Amino acid sequence: MDGRWSAGLLLLTALCGLQWGCAWGGEESDQRAAPLPNVVLFFVDDLGFGDVGVHGCRGYATPNIDRLAREGVELTDFYVSQPVCSASRASLLTGCYAVRVGISGALGPHSAVGLDPDETTLAEVFKSRGYATAIFGKWHLGDRPELLPLSQGFDEYYGIPYSNDMWPYHPERPGAWGDLPTLEGDRVVGYNTDQNRFTGDFTARSVDFIERHRGEPFFLYIAHPMPHVPLHASEAYRGTTERGLFGDVVSEIDASVGAVLEALERTGLDERTLLIFTSDNGPWLSYGDHAGSAGPFREGKGTTFEGGVREPFFARFPGHLPAGRRFAAPVMTIDLLPTLAGLIGAPPPERKIDGLDIWPVLERGAPSPHEALFFWYHSGSLEAVRMGDWKLHFPHAYRTMRGRAPGTGGIPGKYAQAKTGLELYDLATDPGESHDLAAEQPEVVARISALAEEMRRRLGDRLTGTKGEEIRSPRRF
Ligand code: MG
Repeated sequence: MDGRWSAGLLLLTALCGLQWGCAWGGEESDQRAAPLPNVVLFFVDDLGFGDVGVHGCRGYATPNIDRLAREGVELTDFYVSQPVCSASRASLLTGCYAVRVGISGALGPHSAVGLDPDETTLAEVFKSRGYATAIFGKWHLGDRPELLPLSQGFDEYYGIPYSNDMWPYHPERPGAWGDLPTLEGDRVVGYNTDQNRFTGDFTARSVDFIERHRGEPFFLYIAHPMPHVPLHASEAYRGTTERGLFGDVVSEIDASVGAVLEALERTGLDERTLLIFTSDNGPWLSYGDHAGSAGPFREGKGTTFEGGVREPFFARFPGHLPAGRRFAAPVMTIDLLPTLAGLIGAPPPERKIDGLDIWPVLERGAPSPHEALFFWYHSGSLEAVRMGDWKLHFPHAYRTMRGRAPGTGGIPGKYAQAKTGLELYDLATDPGESHDLAAEQPEVVARISALAEEMRRRLGDRLTGTKGEEIRSPRRF
């Protein structure tokens, strides 16, 4: 299977490269030549599947995100690789399952590990084609200078190096964290910055970047640190929604999407820019009214049930992607790097990656190029696999708010610990993962188990004590 897909990937890469690349600076270059497309990637934090207007959010509206759905493609079965910040970002930026590149969980301040700069990041893929690159918002792949964005392919960085709750005012652990730095490039420009400014500041930086780079191809990564707690919104948005502060915060993020769309129109780049919007993991349910909603899905952040790993995903590229289409092929953040590399005619990373080119999925709803998607969590436990409409969970512990009182006002409730057995769900008829079919479908269980066994050999599994042959080390200190 590997050979078939890699041949397909090469062909698609070549075709896309022809589409966008040959006319750029080559012999065929002329006035009609298509310039390289810009890419704007919104990767927001802890926004759940149910937290956007087109998925029925309540008490506030997201007209700009809804516009992406109307004017672009929605992928309804889009996943992150892990339901937690750092591991999820590692996959987005490397095209690899996070276990392959040795990143798990959420890295704390002064973390002894981080994303190895020898890995090829999405930003470096764009640099290889001469793009201007920037990240505004949250990094979270290592806070040592040699691991920060400027060492990982980004020309510009303004934001925070890890989560916005890793600061002295944590509601459960006051004083457990030090001061939260704000960075401009590699330089600390402030501590414990007023977080009410965050969404507005990162938006203003993004709009300014678009205007400054209107004459050259650019890759802009907007990683809003919210609606991860602690929730903060600017004065213009506070108290404006029936949903309370969570609704205010998402409204401001939605306005950020609107401001970027407006900037693209103003600069004449609208039809030359692919804009993608998604989130790093599902809602942090213990925060109650300060958490989002996973919509129809079970559980949330910190679990490999659908509520933790299935995200809202929209891609808008006028004239190049269809408008108002919804496609259901199961795909993952790992696929964006090879897809975008193909789009701009960049060579694939030298090191092995897991993602596959999903341009045909975006363009015309082609089937997923993956036979299955794999979900590791808890420092490398292979907890679940999706194959077609089937999702198989291997026995594992997980946290749940079932039967527990949710938090209020920014103070979290307490999770209960639960355990799943070997459980099989048909997501086509049971998206809430409530009716276990493992006993009725032994052949499906056997097929997925065989795929999982092969993956354990390659990338390891803590649940079975398997060491993966292909895993690489993070950068260690
Ligand atoms: Mg997150």
